[in-house]
Amino acid sequence: MHGQERVDSSLLLITHEIGVIAETCDELSILYGGKVMEQGSTGNVLINPTNPYTMGLKNSFPEIESGTDDAVSIPGSPPNLNTPPTGCAFVDRCPFADETCEGSHPDFVDLPNRNQRSACHHVDRAAQIRRDARQPETWGVETTREDTHKEQDVILSVSDLEKHYSQSQSLIDQFRGNEPPKVRAVDGVSFSVSRSEILGVAGESGCGKSTLGETIALLEEPTGGEILFDGKSAEEYQKGGMKQFREKAQIVFQDPFDSLNPRMTVWKLVSEPLKIHDRSPTDREAVVRETLERVGLTPPSKFLDQYPHELSGGQRQRVAIARALVLDPDFLVCDEPASMLDVSLKVNLLNLLRSLADEENIGIIYISHDLASLAQVSDQLAIMYLGRIVEIGETDRVVEAPQHPYTERLLSATPEKDPSIDRERVTLDGEPPNPIELPSGCVFAPRCPKAQDECRASNPHLESTVADDHSAACFFPVEKEPVDRTSSSD
Ligand code: SF4
Ligand code: SF4
Repeated sequence: MHGQERVDSSLLLITHEIGVIAETCDELSILYGGKVMEQGSTGNVLINPTNPYTMGLKNSFPEIESGTDDAVSIPGSPPNLNTPPTGCAFVDRCPFADETCEGSHPDFVDLPNRNQRSACHHVDRAAQIRRDARQPETWGVETTREDTHKEQDVILSVSDLEKHYSQSQSLIDQFRGNEPPKVRAVDGVSFSVSRSEILGVAGESGCGKSTLGETIALLEEPTGGEILFDGKSAEEYQKGGMKQFREKAQIVFQDPFDSLNPRMTVWKLVSEPLKIHDRSPTDREAVVRETLERVGLTPPSKFLDQYPHELSGGQRQRVAIARALVLDPDFLVCDEPASMLDVSLKVNLLNLLRSLADEENIGIIYISHDLASLAQVSDQLAIMYLGRIVEIGETDRVVEAPQHPYTERLLSATPEKDPSIDRERVTLDGEPPNPIELPSGCVFAPRCPKAQDECRASNPHLESTVADDHSAACFFPVEKEPVDRTSSSD
């Protein structure tokens, strides 16, 4: 944005991140099913939307700050553009649709006295629709959620877990017997996850969060520390119990295009794990159908013969989750599963994971760089930097009162969907240091504005700061001021 201002050019930004638009764009067009549903100045469209689709999108955007409502997804899926609807493009998902909406797509009309245009047959009732659209029940969403995880058993505990990768070294260094340089992708990580609990893991790219997930899923061999899963150590599973481990613990990857074989139908993809694990062939079809229903792919018969390329991004990710769930696992590792989905589908996926934890007692590790999604879905939140957890605690505590300067900066960088909110940013400058040559002392010191001599002399350990269940690795924890939020909307 600074570059665009400096050269005085125009910029067309195409994104599903409403928060980024709210903070950077002057004008906004909202598209759905190939049609522009609403357009105008960003402030007008986001603060006082007049089209139900814009209202639904705005509800879907998870926000980091406490005190805001949970994100609410738009039910259903986008239309198939091979057979475009004859009525309004949004008619199948709009809670305000009536017979008029089924007859024709609405014309795009200018709203009087403001820079805003909308395509909706009921734009004259926009104020009332806007009030109703704020209620989750309008979109068929129940908001009551039971906090079940606290009474549950621990299913996974890791202590001092390490995954170091040795780098190549010169012949002279080998001859001298020098230790090869190492990338400490995961470096002394400890935590536990209970049944029904979601642990969110956040951090910048390269912080080691994906390696952590793969090491816990035993796709990578740990180089140190201990993993205890459902009462057994990783070594016990590795000495002949891997099939049992795979039945109980599954991983969902970021990109379903990569993780789903494009030559297999949904039926083959979801039934394959049952075959591998010798489940009764007579029950397989019933189990696959039931699993597709669990992940919201209904009716299952519509999807069984489809190939991944025939599905939307959200449906493909649901197939990947169905493949992970079909064996009834006790534990899921989800590595950036929503990063390729638009906001409404992302909220659908978050709600699905939440209900799997709440209703089916599944423990989940949710890895993402998207703190707003993590704040919405997780019970505990861990922040990673250069292979280490620098802060961990109950999600609300970490979000409301971050203790580590790195967490404070990550939280400050999350976008807001309301362009009228003027939030003071705490910037994160610089790049993480070379992972092969980490600085001595606190590894965040080269980027930390609070760094002092003590920080460079010794490494701070993760310890309780303000509460027993909230720890940070910092000698000089943040003293957080209340967030200044000034918002205006009707
Ligand atoms: S025209 Fe009807 S279906 Fe389309 S957005 Fe407006 S109320 Fe909803
Ligand atoms: S220990 Fe020092 S350098 Fe490290 S995060 Fe805390 S204040 Fe910053």
